[in-house]
Amino acid sequence: MTSAQEHGGDVRLTGISKTYGSFTAVHPLDLTVPQGSFFALLGASGCGKTTTLRMIAGLEEPSSGTVHLGDQDVTSLPPYKRPVNTVFQSYALFPHLDIFENVAFGLRRRGIKSVKGQVGEMLDLVQLGEQARKKPHQLSGGQQQRVAVARALINHPKVLLLDEPLGALDLKLRRQMQLELKRIQTEVGITFVHVTHDQEEAMTMADTVAVMNGGRVEQLGAPADLYENPRTTFVANFLGTSNFIEAEVAATSGDDLVVKAGDCKLTLPAARCTGPTATGGKVLVGVRPEKISLAHADDAGRIPEGRNRITGRIADSSFIGVSTQYVVHSPVCPSFEVYAQNIERDGRLTPGTEVVLHWNPAHTFALDAAQDIE
Ligand code: ATP
Repeated sequence: MTSAQEHGGDVRLTGISKTYGSFTAVHPLDLTVPQGSFFALLGASGCGKTTTLRMIAGLEEPSSGTVHLGDQDVTSLPPYKRPVNTVFQSYALFPHLDIFENVAFGLRRRGIKSVKGQVGEMLDLVQLGEQARKKPHQLSGGQQQRVAVARALINHPKVLLLDEPLGALDLKLRRQMQLELKRIQTEVGITFVHVTHDQEEAMTMADTVAVMNGGRVEQLGAPADLYENPRTTFVANFLGTSNFIEAEVAATSGDDLVVKAGDCKLTLPAARCTGPTATGGKVLVGVRPEKISLAHADDAGRIPEGRNRITGRIADSSFIGVSTQYVVHSPVCPSFEVYAQNIERDGRLTPGTEVVLHWNPAHTFALDAAQDIE
């Protein structure tokens, strides 16, 4: 086996960009997707994720840069000569052919006569072995999408590209299909590059997520790492909700940083600060809502030592089923509001109640307040 075959499923983009007239849809981008990984391009509508995917597929010509699949430079190859296949949101199944023939299509086009074994295997992989003789319109949306995946995999591409493949499905089916696609990817072991605007989808399925914003990859990492250590407020807020407090580095204490926000001192692990760590450095301190506990001010004495704490007043509350979300205004950090879900007293706190928000310093991160991240 040559090294090109061994690494055939790596996707390497080098300085790839796309401009339409004076508009830059994708700024020069370097990106490597390792063979066999499940990679998600995540971002809001218009951020350039589909354009990036289409440049990998060969459906869009880059304005600059190169696309490598393994060791092969495929930049100037047409789509059908690249060892990739794409699954679109519109399943694009042939309505007049049954499921078996839809999946067999790619083999038949290559002149392969004996297709039964391979098609059967693919249908089993997507758990549609029983539906082989049905027509697409007789299947549910999720089943049709699975046929589209089987059809795209039948020719053994090295990379499968998925462009919002679950976008047309309702929420429940979407969740099921996320797990299903992840299972299929693990089973076949090829590289999947998946485009989505749904952060939960990207986090559930992908080994690595590239968060795109304005034609750039703003941050790339494992889902948990992105969630725990976002480098910008955009990434922090795209992957959930975060509270932010404007603060200034006051001191270093062992492996910790102490920062000051008004009269309030907060501690965090220095390793979780991607902003300046020298005294006087301006940072944005972040803490996820679910990490915060809320205590009635009268119970403040019972809060364990060593927790970060902020006093405030309940401004608003809303019942959301599993918990109650609170908005708390804090005089020490005027710009700070919090949606806190853990409450240490029974019953709902009414607006105006004085409270103390407290959390483990280890759950605190800090960003560069200037946010000039390339
Ligand atoms: P969506 O989820 O809405 O598809 P996206 O993140 O995938 O969004 P792209 O489809 O990659 O975004 O588009 C990126 C930007 O490039 C958008 O502003 C879009 O309007 C623009 N764009 C895409 N194709 C063209 C084109 N053929 N001509 C001009 N502008 C285009």
